[in-house]
Amino acid sequence: MTPIPPGSTIGIVGGGQLGRMIAIAAAQLGYRSHIYAPEASGPAADVSARWTQADYEDGAALERFAQDVDVITYEFENVPAGAVSLLAGLGHVQPNAAALRVAQDRLLEKGFVAGLGGRTAPYAPVDDRAALTTAIAAVGAPAILKTTRFGYDGKGQARIGDVAPATLDRAWTEIGGQPAAVLEGFVRFEHEFSVILVRGHDGEVRFWDTPHNVHESGILATSTVPAPAPVRAQEAEARGTARKVADALDYVGVLTLEFFAGADGPIFNEMAPRVHNSGHWTIEGAVTSQFENHVRAICGLPLGSTALDAPAVSMRNLIGAQAHDWPEILADEAAHLHLYGKHEARAGRKMGHVTRLHF
Ligand code: AMP
Repeated sequence: MTPIPPGSTIGIVGGGQLGRMIAIAAAQLGYRSHIYAPEASGPAADVSARWTQADYEDGAALERFAQDVDVITYEFENVPAGAVSLLAGLGHVQPNAAALRVAQDRLLEKGFVAGLGGRTAPYAPVDDRAALTTAIAAVGAPAILKTTRFGYDGKGQARIGDVAPATLDRAWTEIGGQPAAVLEGFVRFEHEFSVILVRGHDGEVRFWDTPHNVHESGILATSTVPAPAPVRAQEAEARGTARKVADALDYVGVLTLEFFAGADGPIFNEMAPRVHNSGHWTIEGAVTSQFENHVRAICGLPLGSTALDAPAVSMRNLIGAQAHDWPEILADEAAHLHLYGKHEARAGRKMGHVTRLHF
């Protein structure tokens, strides 16, 4: 492709912290950013040239947005399919609509990964309460019931400890009786990790080091590289699966696949067709960050090195009131503090993160 040169405008769908960090990387390379989001403002607003506030159903606004930008990308993948196909018809959208469609739906993405030979937990579709009874018989307990769409940070999920009808009733109510859900067998794992890759227009794939991810209350708490030995032992297979997914989707940009380190090998959990929280450490911890390489890939520029900048790197999320600890964090002169500019430190809200390089 002809590169989209610095000076061009990148359209970013979604205006949260991921959009903010993409826009910062874009600005460093001389690009402008234009955000499209239903909210009036957000973390990306402080660092972007333009902000369109409009619904994803607003065809005229989507059209104006597409005309104003040279390439469109996403920091938030739960965009209605209609808006995605409209944008894809209007302009250059990366990652493409197929990647977005698969990654939006837990059932589709599990089937897609399994079809490429990747391991998944046992799973079954659940469309109504009766189907939950059938599914638990097939999958067994313990299990997790998840909505197929719009789930994040453990939201839209219910844990099921046994097969008693009352337990199933409670789980079904807990996810709000969503007609599109998936029941997954509970995976016994010691570690969670993610594979973060960037794929260029020419199909070149580069991987960052594999972060070991620790979640607290369903929210990512820390990502650390290098990962412990049991994770590193599964890295090659997990990367192979991720590369197959990226190639099959003719993916361009940063792609993240999350895995559990299971007893027999890496078990795919979910994918994100975008930069990912478990890759924030790459800003200081790698030669080229996930944000910069995402911009390079979607603009058709050469990819930067994904090599580590230090023997070890750790990233800690600042959730809710933890962001108030910024004075103590700054007292550590080696800490890299990132705050997302959110005004209210609500419980469970990702307010920022801290990265530390270990020499
Ligand atoms: P998810 O939104 O799918 O990433 O789930 C949030 C967190 O719940 C994961 O990071 C795991 O810690 C846990 N979890 C999700 N699915 C499973 C599963 N099938 N078995 C065990 N733990 C799970």
